[in-house]
Amino acid sequence: MSELDALYQELILEHYKHPRNKVTLEGSFITHENPSCGDSLRLKIEWEGPARIKRILFDGHGCAISTASASIMTELLSGKTLEEALEICRKAIAFLRGDSEGSTDPEDAEELGDLQALEGVRQFPLRVKCATLPWHGVEKELKSRF
Ligand code: ZN
Repeated sequence: MSELDALYQELILEHYKHPRNKVTLEGSFITHENPSCGDSLRLKIEWEGPARIKRILFDGHGCAISTASASIMTELLSGKTLEEALEICRKAIAFLRGDSEGSTDPEDAEELGDLQALEGVRQFPLRVKCATLPWHGVEKELKSRF
């Protein structure tokens, strides 16, 4: 294992063991699921004004990859405008899937912060579904706000 892989591994585990913005959500929320792994999560988007995200909370259960990705997602999108958040979602999903668009620009990668630690999932299609679950979920909920 290279030094970078080890660092990434550690970052993923850190987010898995101490997920940011993970709470117990009471009430009715949309459940986002990845049946191929058993990951399940619910999101609560708190708004500050009509178009700025104050913070995002999540609840649910899943593997290390989906949990770490959800934790990172809540950190990256909190405080962003709706428009900025949708742009980050697009880049994050492209990055995790390894689409050439969005994944090669170093500035984009920088913007994705800790999410870069999940780059390795690209080689494993089933794991890509774990990593993109929180992103597809939040994207869907953000778009439904229009
Ligand atoms: Zn999973």
